[in-house]
Amino acid sequence: MQTVELDSVHAEPAPDSRARAWPGVGAQLLARLAKLDIHRPEDLLLHLPLRYEDETRLTPIAAARPGFSVQVEGEVSTCEIVLRPRRQLLVRVSDSSGTLIARWLNFYPSQQKQLAPGRRVRLFGEVRGGFFGDEMIHPRIKSVEEGEALPTALTPVYPTTAGVGQLTLRKLIDRALASMQVDDPLPPDALRELGLPGFGDAVRALHHPAADADPAALELRTHPAWLRIKFEELLVQQMSLRRAYNARRARQAVPLPVRGRLGAALLDKLPFQPTAAQSRVVAEIAADLAAPYPMQRLLQGDVGSGKTLVAALAMLQAVDNGWQAAMMAPTEILAEQHWRKLSEWMAPLGLEVAWLSGSRRKREREAELERLRRGELLLAVGTHALIEDPVALPRLALAVVDEQHRFGVRQRLALREKGEGGRRPHMLMMSATPIPRTLAMTHYADLDVSVLDELPPGRTPIRTRLVSDTRRDEVIERVRQACLGGRQAYWVCPLIEESEALQLQTAVETFDTLRAALPELKVGLVHGRLKADEKSATMKAFSAGELDVLVATTVIEVGVDVPKASLMVIEHAERFGLAQLHQLRGRVGRGSAESVCILIYAQPLSQTGRERLKVIYENTDGFEIARADLRIRGPGEFVGARQSGLPLLRYASLEEDAALIDPARALAERMLRELPAATEGLLQRWLGGREALLRA
Ligand code: ADP
Ligand code: MG
Repeated sequence: MQTVELDSVHAEPAPDSRARAWPGVGAQLLARLAKLDIHRPEDLLLHLPLRYEDETRLTPIAAARPGFSVQVEGEVSTCEIVLRPRRQLLVRVSDSSGTLIARWLNFYPSQQKQLAPGRRVRLFGEVRGGFFGDEMIHPRIKSVEEGEALPTALTPVYPTTAGVGQLTLRKLIDRALASMQVDDPLPPDALRELGLPGFGDAVRALHHPAADADPAALELRTHPAWLRIKFEELLVQQMSLRRAYNARRARQAVPLPVRGRLGAALLDKLPFQPTAAQSRVVAEIAADLAAPYPMQRLLQGDVGSGKTLVAALAMLQAVDNGWQAAMMAPTEILAEQHWRKLSEWMAPLGLEVAWLSGSRRKREREAELERLRRGELLLAVGTHALIEDPVALPRLALAVVDEQHRFGVRQRLALREKGEGGRRPHMLMMSATPIPRTLAMTHYADLDVSVLDELPPGRTPIRTRLVSDTRRDEVIERVRQACLGGRQAYWVCPLIEESEALQLQTAVETFDTLRAALPELKVGLVHGRLKADEKSATMKAFSAGELDVLVATTVIEVGVDVPKASLMVIEHAERFGLAQLHQLRGRVGRGSAESVCILIYAQPLSQTGRERLKVIYENTDGFEIARADLRIRGPGEFVGARQSGLPLLRYASLEEDAALIDPARALAERMLRELPAATEGLLQRWLGGREALLRA
């Protein structure tokens, strides 16, 4: 889900105004700078060093150790072009302690001149042990006079792109620092309280570290100047999220007051009672839907917690008011399953559900599309086929996105755009993957969150077994016994990341093996390459109990709900991620029969493989597992974070700078309230090269 969509349309200034802002900079360089996201001179200030090099010291050649970057100074003794093993410039440089070889595979005549025998040079680079002694490949060179003073401060190294040299960047940045009036929009009392330096001091300290600056603090970005920049970045993020939140409240949506007629009728017909958690969450959503501005709510609930029913009740609130509701799911199998379940629930209420998937026959589709367009059909379920052009949902008032982290920002946006007349549909996004707190406070801060923290009663906990693949035969035997005893089993084939074709092949082979080994059972196969109607027929057969064993790839990973299946076998479990294992395991344990999940692993296990299996073996709670996942992988990798629609943070890190988030949020609220001009200035500084059009 996205929290904010940043339309990063570059506001291209007219070419001549751009040139005026950049005196003496040619069009070619400007184009290259744009690749670095430097569009205005002030963008240079925030183009901060990646790291620093220490050119303040000289290392005697004899003391230069392989693997370390050092600066040496000496006299060129020889300079020659050799042709073997390939054409290169080979230079020997000596100081009083020893000799070092420098090599260039690409070089210019000017370099050759600079390196003529007798010349004095400083070389900066990493030393490697070579055949003829220690050497540097492509070191930086600087011609010097004997006794020339060394720089007194660390040298910044900037992120760059082809055709923009470090020296060019340094010159441009220095010019910007010298000519620009750098003001600090942050209130001085807040800065004092946080113990942070002003903006001007911070950028100057980072571009030109003081001679006595702590190199480790600069390198590790714990220096107060870095903290100031990272704080400001988080502050700006909080401000834009907050503004997006406010902007959303200013938009129009169809208010859907609670009528409760259809919802009550559905609950009346269900064979079970909603859990307390379901009732609470339904009420939270119902209140949002009644508002005249669009809901943007994330429903988090562990696998099996009953999110579908919550969604169905929300959809009925739209129908009760005569408006349309649609639900989008990431896979064909899941979409079809939702369609079946919703149809089953809705039929007694006299409601029909449209089903939109790529696989339906054109004529069937046409008729349904027409009824949706005319607003005769009020409910629709589909895959991303739902957002394609021919689908018109003119009265769409509620859009539900299941397993939302599987969708990209564009797709979720496209669904939102389906409503007509400038109205935004209310959005309900559902996920079994909980968001860690730091992410919830940053990238997802624009969302309201509901949590289903209770599983329906009567579930017996799933037992998890770890089994080495040398005991595969025993597992097959176990499947036989379980199925002969009237149960059903999934057999999930290994994930083969490198090749989908290979994964497919393994699935087919496993299917053949199991069919041969279990002649008395009915075995089916699903994988991503099957035609949609084949997939659907197999799933239907499994669901109806006509198949005992379902061999599958990860197409069944999310959402599939066959309560009678109680045995899950996952091969090469060590290859799966934690979230995936948890999702897969969640396919069983949905009925009252005791369920077992057998994780077959192959030796040798990698460190993380072992760690993951331990976590999944010891935990059944999705939130615990997500926390462990975060610890093992770090939040940068967190599902969905990269798709959140917000630019990723350039400098701040959610792990290392977590302590800055709370104060950033507090100050953002204060500045938005009290200092609108300063707020605008900050947003301009960080996002201004883009015309940051914040929409919610
Ligand atoms: P998920 O949250 O993983 O999407 P589902 O919506 O698929 O979970 O629900 C899992 C199963 O639990 C379904 O078979 C559903 O019909 C059933 N279920 C949902 N709510 C309840 C309840 N309150 N009591 C009993 N069973 C329920
Ligand atoms: Mg689900």
